[in-house]
Amino acid sequence: MLIVNQLLRMLKKSKYVEAVHITEGIHHSPKCVALAHADHYGLGEGVYLPDTSYPIDRPHPRCTSYLTYVMKPRKDGLFDDY
Ligand SMILES: [Zn+2]
Repeated sequence: MLIVNQLLRMLKKSKYVEAVHITEGIHHSPKCVALAHADHYGLGEGVYLPDTSYPIDRPHPRCTSYLTYVMKPRKDGLFDDY
């Protein structure tokens, strides 16, 4: 997970992305498994706000965990201006 902190700074300004979701790596190392199953914000397991104070960048050496985006819900029609 290269330059995660820079990505999170960009996402804070995003109109569409609300949060990131971390999926544990294939080796199931305790550090990334703990991040993937923690619910610090009440948004679900592994979901972190872009202004997270939790260190989700490179949980351990050779980690294969990855991030996906949690999109903001739309108030009006879906996909109007995507
Ligand atoms: Zn890992």
